[in-house]
Order: sequence, then C-alpha cells, then structure tokens
Amino acid sequence: MDNKSYNIQTELCHLGEEKNSNGAVIKPIYQNSTFTFDSWDSIDSAFEDPYNNAIYTRGKNPTVHAVELKLATLCKAESAKLFTSGMAAISSAILSCVNYGDHVVTINNIYAPANNFLSGYLKEKMNIELTYVSGNSPDDFKDAIKDNTTLFYLESPTYADFNVLDLRAIANIAKSKNIKTIIDNTWSTPYFQNPLSLGIDLEIHSVSKYLSGHSDIVAGLVAGKEELIRSLFNREHAWLGGKIAPFEAWLINRSLRTFILRMEKHQENALQVARFLEKHPAIEQINYPGLRSFERYSLALKQMNGFSSLMSFRLRTKDIDKIKVFVNSLKLFGLGVSWGGHESLVYAPAISLLKELTPEQAQAMDISLSDIRISVGLEHYQDLIDDLNSSLNLII
Ligand SMILES: *Cc1c(COP(=O)(O)O)cnc(C)c1O
Repeated sequence: MDNKSYNIQTELCHLGEEKNSNGAVIKPIYQNSTFTFDSWDSIDSAFEDPYNNAIYTRGKNPTVHAVELKLATLCKAESAKLFTSGMAAISSAILSCVNYGDHVVTINNIYAPANNFLSGYLKEKMNIELTYVSGNSPDDFKDAIKDNTTLFYLESPTYADFNVLDLRAIANIAKSKNIKTIIDNTWSTPYFQNPLSLGIDLEIHSVSKYLSGHSDIVAGLVAGKEELIRSLFNREHAWLGGKIAPFEAWLINRSLRTFILRMEKHQENALQVARFLEKHPAIEQINYPGLRSFERYSLALKQMNGFSSLMSFRLRTKDIDKIKVFVNSLKLFGLGVSWGGHESLVYAPAISLLKELTPEQAQAMDISLSDIRISVGLEHYQDLIDDLNSSLNLII
C-alpha cells in the first residue's frame, strides 16, 4: 500500500501485504530460524539494530513482524510484540516494570494465573509486595501508593466480574508518581477500547481469544510506546524466549482480516442474548457491561466504543443438581474454558470451586455456586437464545 492512511478495516486487510512478484495474494511464511548475510559488513551492521533487522527468529522474523505492525495500528500503539501466549506477554511485561522488593497495586478478581504470578511467584522470588483495591474509585489507587510502588496492574472490564475502572483517572495518578501502568485489555479487544489513548503505558492481550477468534491458536501481545517495547524485545522477550512461531503469526494475520466483522457480530449476538437472559424467570441477575442496567454502564460508555461477548449470570436455583441439568442440557454451547472464539461456550465456576469446597462450605462462606459464564459465539443469535431458553425452562 501507499503511505495514505486508511480506515482500520482496510488496514487490517492490506497493511504490509504487498503482492509478491508471482501474484500470490497471501504472503508466504518465513518458516526459518536464521538469516544469512552477503558479507562481514552487512551482518555486522544488522547487529547494530536487532530490533529492526532479521538475524535469528527469536528476534525479528518478517512474518511475525508484519502481524505486529497490524496489531500496533489496531492498538493505536507505536509498537507491539507478539508472544507465545497471553501469560508469556503478561509475565514479561510485569517483569519489565518491577525490580526486587517493589510494590504493585492491582484489583480484586484479575485473571487468576496473572494473580498467581504476582501474589505467589514474584512475592516468593522477588519479594514483590502486592495491594488489592476494589478500584471503584481512582482514589483507591492513590491511597494504596507507597514509596516503593512501581506498577499498577489493571484489567477493565475484568473477565471474571466485569468491573470497569476509570482508566484515564488512574493513568493520571500513576503518571504523577512515576508509576507504570499495565492493562489486560483482552475482554474489550483493541476495537472496543484503546487504553493507550487514555494514558496507560502497556496494553496486553491474550491473542488466543477474539484477536485469533477461531479457537486454533494460543498467543499473546504487548503494545505500547516504542521505547518500552524495544526494551521488552531486548530483555524479557529475548531472555525468557517466549517467541511466537511464524506459522501461528501467519494464522493471526488470517484472523485479523475478519476481526472487525467478527467483533461487530459478537457484539450484536451478545446484546440479543443478554436482553433475553435479563428477562428470563430462571435468572436472578446478569452481568454484562453492554446492558443499560449494568451498574457502571455510563463509565463504560465514556471510555469504550462497544462491548464483546463474554458475560455471566446467576441462576435463581441454588440446587447443584439443577445447575448441572442446565449446563448438561445445552446443545450449542460447548462446556469448556477459554472464550472469544467463533463457537459459543459455557463454563460454571462452581466446577472449579467444588474441587476445594463442599456445597455446604461454599454456602457458609456466601460463595454462590449458581454463577454461569457464557462466551457468545458467531452462530445465529436466535439459535443460541432457543438453546438457552430450553435449558433454562428445565430448571424453573
Ligand atoms: C486467557 C486469558 C489470559 C491468558 O492468555 P493465554 O493466551 O491463555 O496465556 C489473560 N488474560 C485474560 C483476561 C484471559 O482471558
């Protein structure tokens, strides 16, 4: 393409996709580990800038780099780096911001493995202190700051309970104290929310979810200012080695061509399903940021351009056998973890909770076993609603 900048949908189709001399419309995959040079001088000069020169595929690879350019454009970022998984992106980004003995402020209910990394692994290995805040008011963050605070680790909306944080206000507090901010933006995707434009330093995605969207890839992304991504590339990405395979990057490129079309459809389907669930007598409460009735809807609208399709609801029944009947009777919703793919999925957090607690213990601790999480896929919404309706009617 020329230097004119196009609408993002056009960029996701064409950016960096110049045709080959043989006319192939899809770029070939550079499935190679190393690159050779004409001369001593040319390899010597490539070593001056490994960030911009393909030398060895743990560093720059042209297939991976082309996809990173599209993703950076989508995130309105100067630069972006793909990783082998969302967790490789999260752990590398956090390590790039903290030193031994630092203090990190985060919110309740962040993605569980990220929480385990911060609260278990980094506490044990690097003496990292951690404070949890509700985040309902940006002042929660201000009040939690200590002399050794170097990072606010955020997720908004949270994938577990859809808590929405005031990102601009929190970013301003962080900047005034020289504290870095990282957000896991997987729920919104860069189409519906651009945290970097609100002042957040680093944006992370589990590319395994909507950005890939076909449930056939596990990958992660960190996007931000070039200076931060370059440092991540030279240190955590190079030394921990969480590099993505060229073939997987090539599949992500395939996914990006339809990313916006898919997100528009996920949003439409999710809203139809949420409106149906909201009215069904078997349901006590629904948690979906795209509903007008959602507690933080107006804050969400202020900083987001739309809503993805993971939601949760609480069944009225507390009877675990009936909850199992509901889950087992669904025909279109596959029972499993993950989300953001073309196919609808259901998961009951009670399945994990009951590994540790009896139903009586859970009740005594006021933990509900009646919560259900669904990822609304790309099937026709009426079929999804019919499926939910028949299963819900079995447990009224
Ligand atoms: C899945 C997920 C991750 C982790 O991504 P992987 O690609 O599975 O490593 C991180 N954050 C959120 C919110 C997720 O849902």
